[in-house]
Amino acid sequence: MKQYALAIIGGGASGMMAAIAAGKSCKEVLLLERGGRIGRKLLATGNGRCNISNRNAQHKGYHGAVPEFVRPAMDRYTVDKTLRLFEEMGLPVVEEEDGKLYPYSLQAAAVLDVLRLELERLGVEIRTDSEVQTIRRLKDGSFRLYVQSGEEKQEYAARRVIVACGGEASAGLGGCSGGYRLLEGLGHKITPRLPGIVQLKADMNGLKGLSGSKFEASLTLRDGKKVCRKENGELLFTDYGVSGPPVMQLSATASRLLDRGRKPVLEIDFLPEFDEETLTKMLRRRAHTRPDKRLEDYFTGFVPKRLGQCILKLAGTAPLSRLAGSLTGQEIAAISRLLKCFPVQITGTNGMKNAQVTLGGADTSQFDPYTMESKLVRGLYVTGELYDIDGDCGGYNLQWAWSSGQLAAEEAVRSLA
Ligand SMILES: Cc1cc2nc3c(=O)[nH]c(=O)nc-3n(C[C@H](O)[C@H](O)[C@H](O)COP(=O)(O)OP(=O)(O)OC[C@H]3O[C@@H](n4cnc5c(N)ncnc54)[C@H](O)[C@@H]3O)c2cc1C
Repeated sequence: MKQYALAIIGGGASGMMAAIAAGKSCKEVLLLERGGRIGRKLLATGNGRCNISNRNAQHKGYHGAVPEFVRPAMDRYTVDKTLRLFEEMGLPVVEEEDGKLYPYSLQAAAVLDVLRLELERLGVEIRTDSEVQTIRRLKDGSFRLYVQSGEEKQEYAARRVIVACGGEASAGLGGCSGGYRLLEGLGHKITPRLPGIVQLKADMNGLKGLSGSKFEASLTLRDGKKVCRKENGELLFTDYGVSGPPVMQLSATASRLLDRGRKPVLEIDFLPEFDEETLTKMLRRRAHTRPDKRLEDYFTGFVPKRLGQCILKLAGTAPLSRLAGSLTGQEIAAISRLLKCFPVQITGTNGMKNAQVTLGGADTSQFDPYTMESKLVRGLYVTGELYDIDGDCGGYNLQWAWSSGQLAAEEAVRSLA
């Protein structure tokens, strides 16, 4: 049986990056992928544009039991270093809002192409349709991998192993729990998993009319009186709840609160550019200037019709045939309040299969953050989403995959010398 210097399990973002980093100085690198091709999930990232990293991704913007775990990897393999690496591979990047970085072509396929070409150039051996089912550590410190490939069972020998199997999120794109099982088989602890970067389910009672509507809004996620997170951006109402970039951004916090049995509320400010007092004055003036307008038309030219009607209904000003001039000061204050602070009860997430990232995973206390090596099994390394680490939406998760992949590979190869 051929003995590889390094076997990498998982041909996703961190596995490919690890194989490239290792392949530069090591000739016997094997990359095993259970799917029919490598990098399948990468093609779907950033809505097919691949938000490859974020200019602001440092150790901040990451979560988990010990978010500080990411610091050494992020300090050593910084965003700039990663971008230089991609540039060397032929992939220039472009920066958009909030520091989000994309391939210049705005095509995720371009990212996968340069990674594949580099793997080929470096002579990394790639085996697809190869699911690692068990890892065994031999007495001499090397490893044996037991692989299912179609109907066939195969075995591989390697001196070092990197487990880069990703998390459970988005099973349709390759997410699975295989990596957790492999680590558990070697004595590692896996913390409970939850969906992150995911749409949120909400109590849509009285809000059904808004389904399909989009608003530039400011969102505040509250747990009782406590403000847990604030985000701005385009909010989308759906038939089950809320979606859109600001919702995805605060969804991990909501997911954790829901898991603790809390009942988070999303407060929507539909008109963040006005404070409540100014808005109340504007609404009062509106009612006084055209007192003969029916409430049905009260918001016309100012707030989208469906939102206006929903607000009037919740403010209890029915019927819509009433005249604007008949609105009382109290009613106008209630309308203003709802436009500035519209409460939506969050009831759940849209589940792991729709999530972009897994919260929870391999317990980071059992790994060395300076090498990514297991403290329990020497010679075994872990990268990326498999850890109990999740990043904010906007390129943070891929940057963690790139940084942890490079660190694990370089340390694994160094330990062989
Ligand atoms: C729809 C979607 C959009 C996203 N968009 C972005 C974005 O724009 N920016 C961003 O930063 N992040 C984004 N993410 C998150 C990001 O893609 C992941 O965090 C990142 O890919 C994790 O990298 P990884 O290498 O840890 O795991 P993955 O990329 O998931 O790769 C793991 C690989 O391991 C393989 N594997 C698993 N078990 C085995 C086994 N036993 N044997 C062999 N192979 C195995 C899997 O098939 C998979 O190919 C998105 C995620 C999704 C689902």
